[in-house]
Parts: sequence; structure tokens; C-alpha cells
Amino acid sequence: MHHIEKINTDLVIIGAGAAGLSAAIAAQQKIKNVLIISKGRLFQSGSTFANINNQWGITFAENETEGDYLENRINSISKGTNVPYLSRILVKESCSAFEMLLSWGVEFQNGKDGKINRVAPCFCTEPLAAIIKSCKQFAESCNRQIDWERVKLLPETKAEKIIIKSNKFTGINASHKNQLIKIEARTAIIATGGNASVFSHHITEPGLTGDGYKLLEDIKHEALIRFSNMNFQQKVWEDISAPKKRFRLSCLWKPEYLFRSTEGKTASLDTLGTAVLRKRMTHVPISNLQQDRIVDEILLSLDRHGRGIEVINRQTGRCEYTILPFVQANNGGVITGENGETALPGLFAAGEVTTGMHGGDRIGGMMIANCLVFGTRAGRAAADFIQ
Ligand SMILES: Cc1cc2nc3c(=O)[nH]c(=O)nc-3n(C[C@H](O)[C@H](O)[C@H](O)COP(=O)(O)OP(=O)(O)OC[C@H]3O[C@@H](n4cnc5c(N)ncnc54)[C@H](O)[C@@H]3O)c2cc1C
Repeated sequence: MHHIEKINTDLVIIGAGAAGLSAAIAAQQKIKNVLIISKGRLFQSGSTFANINNQWGITFAENETEGDYLENRINSISKGTNVPYLSRILVKESCSAFEMLLSWGVEFQNGKDGKINRVAPCFCTEPLAAIIKSCKQFAESCNRQIDWERVKLLPETKAEKIIIKSNKFTGINASHKNQLIKIEARTAIIATGGNASVFSHHITEPGLTGDGYKLLEDIKHEALIRFSNMNFQQKVWEDISAPKKRFRLSCLWKPEYLFRSTEGKTASLDTLGTAVLRKRMTHVPISNLQQDRIVDEILLSLDRHGRGIEVINRQTGRCEYTILPFVQANNGGVITGENGETALPGLFAAGEVTTGMHGGDRIGGMMIANCLVFGTRAGRAAADFIQ
């Protein structure tokens, strides 16, 4: 690798998803020397811009009643695996995060009355999530906002190593098309997203290989970096047959369906009570911590080798889908304080690479809210650190 360039900046942000962009915008309003690097293409990579649904929802609390409900739900489904004060901040600032998106020009789906429609997110019964019109429209709004704030961008540039000298963060070694770039910076924010794409079945873009975890793992002892909840992946059932179709989750609770392994072993979910099936109806991802995980466990026990589970319509005898769990996101990550600070002064983290705001199970729409709330906080704190 040739050493081509030395860059000097106050703040380098690694990753250009919801977390990295909101951090950059918040920091740029306080300091003027902010650089984002992204190994993927700008506004096209990461789960924020490139996911199989081409859209996402953001959950937020508009008033105290919604806030109390949301905070209680997070604490209740997390069963002690979240950090309650971070969850509280997330809920309290979720509405500002949503309003920030509106101020960027992001468009949301409307109801029949022409107002933004809110739906019940996973693990909730109250309508608290607004859904964007498309990732494309979101990308255009972000692009405009970043342009307007004059944030500097370095696309297709991959952070390879965090540099520490005398117990202080001093910069990043990065690569661009096989050439080395030494970025000297006073602070950095790691916003590299999750690691879903290291798994053979995932619904993210292929670049999400968890680089942030590796960058931080490499300095773990020197910088006292700690991780938590890394065993809690968020997985969803997807079809693997050709031509691939989207699996209708409702097959899980419709009595006409039977589940069969490729070796012919069958299981039905009829024997489970309606109470547990009704709980399973409230979320798309397979739960890690709730009682209704039993539903998915029955299916998982049919297929220990990852060959796929056939979903058979009892009336027609036809196999309508062959399904497997696909990784969507990671609920674990690096432990930070309320402003994304790690134990190493000058080094911050935000977004899916972090953990604690939710636990082993996460309320739908709360990851985008998390990226925006703690991205903004990390951006401001990094700017303050410099000042
Ligand atoms: C199909 C799907 C649907 C989802 N739906 C929802 C939803 O409805 N609501 C919700 O709240 N959440 C949802 N999520 C989760 C949510 O989208 C993500 O957790 C969130 O977008 C992560 O944002 P982020 O900014 O942390 O990372 P990302 O958006 O993943 O961005 C990571 C960035 O880091 C860059 N990067 C990575 N490694 C490096 C490196 N070494 N050097 C430089 N750059 C690097 C990437 O190029 C990218 O720019 C969904 C996820 C998926 C996959």
C-alpha cells in the first residue's frame, strides 16, 4: 500500500449513515473542520440507505404519555439488558430527532387525512412510528443538508486503524483504492453501523462487516473499550427459494400452515396457546428475550444445518416458502456514555455500533431514533471536546 496523503482535521467521523451524518451536522454547527469518511458510496451504503425494504420507520414520543409508555416498554422488553438512563434520554429526545428529519426535508407516509401516519412499531401496541416515503427521498434530503452545512466528505475511504499516542487519540489510518491516507485528528466518532453482512444470510448491503467493532477491539486494552450484548442479533425470517419472495410472517399463526425440514421432519404451531401466538404477532424480528421466542425455537429446532424450513399449505400440500433467519441488525455494541464518549478521551461512538439504549430486544423504529439522538449528542460533545 502506498502512502499518499496526510490530512489534518479537528473531527473525523467514520461512517455516513444516520448516526455519522447527524453527528457531522451537529458538530459542524459548532466547529468548521469536520470530515466524514465512508467506505461505501455516500447516501447509498449502510443500513440507513441500502436495506431490503427501501424504507424504515422512526419511533418517537410526542408527549409525556407516549414517553412514559415508550420508556416502560423498552425497560420491560429489555429485561435488564438495557442501560435505563440511556433509554430515557433516547425517549426524551426522540421527538426532536424526528423534527430534525422534517427540517432536512425528509418526507413521511401520510394517512387518509393527509397527516403523517403513525403505526405501532414492533413490540408495541401504540401508534408511535412514522415511516419515510423511500430511502431515495431520504438520501436526497441528507445530501442537500450535508451540502448546505458544508461538511467535507471522503467517500470509498476505509478506516483501518485507530492511532493512539501517549494514551491519547491522535488519528486514523485509512485506505482509499489501495492507497494509505493518514488522518490526523483531535477527535473521532465511530459510526460504522453493525455487522450483519458477515453472516451468510443477512438483509443489509455486503459492506456492513462490523469494522467499527474490529477497530475498537484492536485498541480494547489500551483504551479500556468494553462491549456488551453482542450475542443479541436481530434476525427475521426470509424466503430462500428461487425466485425469492418476501415471506409473509402471518403464516406463523395461521392454522393452515405446517413447517417441514428438508429431511421431512414436521412441526406445527397449533399446540401453542393463542396468547403466545398473539404476542408473536406484535413483532417481525425473532425475539431474543421474550416468552414468544418459543414459536421461532420450534422452527429453528427443525433445521440445525441451515438448509431451510419449508412452509407447507396443508390444504394444497404446496410448499409456499423455504425460510431461514436472516440477520438484520446487531443490538449489541460498544459501551458509551450519554454523549457517545468511550473511555479514551477524544474517541466517541454512535449508532448501531453502540449499545445500551435498548437491550437484547429492540422496539421497531428505535434504532434510527438512537442513531439520530446519540449521533447529534456525540457530534456536539466532540466539538466541545475540541473547543
Ligand atoms: C432491512 C432493514 C430494515 C430496518 N428497518 C428499521 C426501521 O424501520 N427502524 C429502525 O429504527 N431501524 C431499522 N433498521 C436498522 C437501522 O436501519 C440501522 O441500525 C441504522 O440505519 C444504522 O445506522 P448507522 O448510522 O449506525 O449505520 P449504517 O447506516 O449502517 O452506516 C454505516 C456507515 O459506516 C460506513 N463504514 C463501515 N465501515 C467503515 C470503515 N471501516 N471505514 C469507513 N466507513 C465505514 C458504511 O459505509 C456506512 O456509511 C433496519 C435495518 C435493516 C437492515
